[in-house]
Amino acid sequence: MNATTDITAIRAAFETDLQAIATEQDLQHVRDRYLGRKQGTVATLMRSLANAPAETKPALGKSANALKRDIEQALSKKGTALRTSMKSTDSLDVTLPGRELAFGRRHPLTIIREQIETIFETMGFETLQGPQVEDDYHNFEALNMPADHPARDMQDTFYLDQSIPGTGDPALPATLLRTHTSGMQIRYMETHTPPVRIIAPGLVYRRDTPDLTHSPMFMQVEGLVVDQGITMADLKGTLVEFLQAFFDTETKVTFRPSFFPYTEPSAEVFISCVFCSGNGCSVCKTTGWLEILGCGMVHPAVFEAVGYDPELYTGWAFGIGIDRVALLKYRVEDIRLFYDNDLRLLEQFPH
Ligand SMILES: [Zn+2]
Repeated sequence: MNATTDITAIRAAFETDLQAIATEQDLQHVRDRYLGRKQGTVATLMRSLANAPAETKPALGKSANALKRDIEQALSKKGTALRTSMKSTDSLDVTLPGRELAFGRRHPLTIIREQIETIFETMGFETLQGPQVEDDYHNFEALNMPADHPARDMQDTFYLDQSIPGTGDPALPATLLRTHTSGMQIRYMETHTPPVRIIAPGLVYRRDTPDLTHSPMFMQVEGLVVDQGITMADLKGTLVEFLQAFFDTETKVTFRPSFFPYTEPSAEVFISCVFCSGNGCSVCKTTGWLEILGCGMVHPAVFEAVGYDPELYTGWAFGIGIDRVALLKYRVEDIRLFYDNDLRLLEQFPH
């Protein structure tokens, strides 16, 4: 074998290897194999030329240099072709603008809850949190709703356990998902003496069939004020102040008699319709008024349950649905949308 046939063989082998290159890695392997400084095929060929006969050396040297140049050029061209095809098929395109990060934001019900908390806190109320799994005593019994009280039927309850611990009585449910935030009235009064000025926001649960205005899980804010000499006028003044701060200073407020077991007298509060300003529309069923919350003077039986003297103290309480005011304030038509976690809706609310 002589150097001339070597050059021809190397050229043929390189052509085969060149065709097989599919990736940058392949390219690097072929470059190392042929152009590596020590072990490379071309370097080995160059070294072997030292032993060639003097008369053929210049021509062989020329051929070997041409081979080296051709291989270098072919590999360089291949490299360019590889990079061009990768740009279109691979995902990395350094010219693309960066991806925008999605920022989280507060849920509309959280925004409303915080607005309500802020208004009451500026009026001197303390905000409390309470347990969502409540016992029968705090949710019903201490609120003047003993076991056989018909008012319990007003609140379809999710019971978690069907007996009172220690009594062995299977007829009376003991543990439940709270049906309202009113249990917090009892929990607070049990551990504090008057004056009392609190609100307690949170999730509540009822066995309602979901529809436009009902969800089995919803949010309420409870409010309670107790002291000597508290009257219905204080209740009215505070709620008008709150409703006008929350909705609009022009909002009209009216009270109508109602019934709740834990307040006496009790009232339902209506505001002038936020959609038609009281002129009458489909939302307010042409009455011009929207029911917004329930309230009343704390029933003496509730004070007795927590050890307050009903001869000495009076107080009032209210409960307002956060979902209800959110529907009105944001003009959302279906309460279920607040719990579906559909980002297309949630992204429309401010941060
Ligand atoms: Zn209306």
